Order: sequence, then structure tokens, then C-alpha cells
Amino acid sequence: MRVHLCGVRGSIPAPGAEFVRYGGNTSCVAVAHDYGAPPTLILDAGTGIRRVTALLAGQPFTGTILLTHLHWDHVQGLPFFRAGDRDDAVVRLLLPDQQDGTSAEEVLGRAMSPPHFPIGPGQLRGRWEFDTLDPGQFECGGFKVEAREIPHKGGRTLGYRVSDGRSVVAYVTDHCPTALGPGPDGWGEYHAAAVELAAGADVLIHDAQLLAEEVPAQAAFGHAAADYVVALAERAGARHVVLFHHQPDRTDDGLDQLAQRFVTSPVPVTVAAEGTMLEV
Ligand SMILES: [Zn+2]
Ligand SMILES: [Zn+2]
Repeated sequence: MRVHLCGVRGSIPAPGAEFVRYGGNTSCVAVAHDYGAPPTLILDAGTGIRRVTALLAGQPFTGTILLTHLHWDHVQGLPFFRAGDRDDAVVRLLLPDQQDGTSAEEVLGRAMSPPHFPIGPGQLRGRWEFDTLDPGQFECGGFKVEAREIPHKGGRTLGYRVSDGRSVVAYVTDHCPTALGPGPDGWGEYHAAAVELAAGADVLIHDAQLLAEEVPAQAAFGHAAADYVVALAERAGARHVVLFHHQPDRTDDGLDQLAQRFVTSPVPVTVAAEGTMLEV
């Protein structure tokens, strides 16, 4: 698989000179098969989704967009995804079932419709299909996907485990493990859904908005500490950690320091940088 990190920031875009190296766009990861085909699976549609258009080199997007949840930083790029908003695009967008009978298009349209935005989801050009999703296993874009419910804050959130039959990428953002208790380290519980999504994964891309020392003051916002992520990877046997969904105030220098914190970790740790491609 080829995994393109198109937006790695959490909560709100972070433009500015101090954020150039790691990037300021919000959550978006594009996944392609490893035989050089363009991405057919997009995880989240934050502002980073604008970069996916460039990966498609003038071609329309044909594939699936999986949203983890509906917070702004995971959906706001959607109407600016040029490769998806054209007459020849074929897009299936799946988001967590809201458990109240609201359709996918309706719930997306709450934030994306006048007066909040000029158009609704149904006015995107091309053939778009919107549907909801429950935890479970399914196939899309030629990948096997497993979805599990993940504790976050303010809305149902899913984590995904994506496999092409040879390699596995786990994508777990946004995640608040302290919602289930302090766990053995005080950074949150190593609960079954997180451990099973990450189990033996070649790459674990995970919410690392916080540092361990920030957990007491900031865990209520619904995120995980980088230290938790690395410990989770060790427990679950994941082979490579990608720290993702960086706090919008965390500068390039701050993220360099974050990388330093884990140089001796038994599991290799990468601090996600926008524009990076991982061969998995
Ligand atoms: Zn987020
Ligand atoms: Zn969120």
C-alpha cells in the first residue's frame, strides 16, 4: 500500500512560518494500492484533501471516502476536493451511523449547506453516494476494512483498520482513551477496540494531539497523548507508529522535540508530516 499523509493537523488548520515543515492542513490520509494506481480510499476529508487532487494528476477521484466522525477538521475540505467535485468523479462517502435515523447526507448537510456554506453535499458534481456505517468489516476501493467504535467527544467516532491482504494500516483518530478510565499509566485505557485495530499493524496512524504531561489539563477535549500511542503500539504489536493530528499550536520545533522523545522507543516512531508518502 501507499499511504499519503495529506493533512496531519488536528482541530483547525495551522498556517504560518512555524508550521511549514510538518504542515498545517487538517486530517486527511489517501491510500493507494502499491502497483502505482492512484488513491482509491481517502480517510477523512479535512483541509488536507485538497492535496489528493494533485496525487490524481488531472484524473477524477473514483473511490471511497471514509470519515471517522463529523468534526470540522475531518470534513471541511470536502467541498474543496476538486478531483471529487467534477462531472466524471465517482465517490462513495461513508460516515458513522448516527443512531437516530439521520441520513448521511442530512447530517453532513448540517454543516455544509446555506447559511453555513453555499452548497450542500448533494450539489457536488459527479456521482456521489452518501451512506452510513456501523462497526464491522466490509470492502471498499479494493481494500478490506474493519471499523470499530472509538471513544472521543461529541459524536460517534470510528477507527479503521485497512488491509490489502498483505499489509495493514490502522487509522485511529480522534481518540480519547481517558474517557474509559486512567489506565495503567494515567494516559487512558488500552481498550479492546484500540488494541484490536492496532494488532500487528504495519503502521499505526494515531491521534497524538497531547503530550503525557498535558493529559490532566487537556484530556477533556477528547484526544490522546503521544506517549499513550507508543505504549499502545507496543502492547498491540504494531510495527511502526505515525503520530498524527497534531495540536494546532505545536510548532515545527515542538514536533521535532516530540520526535526526540521517542528516539529510543522499541517501536519506530514517525511524527506525521504533510506531503509524506509511506510505502507499507
Ligand atoms: Zn480532529
Ligand atoms: Zn474530533
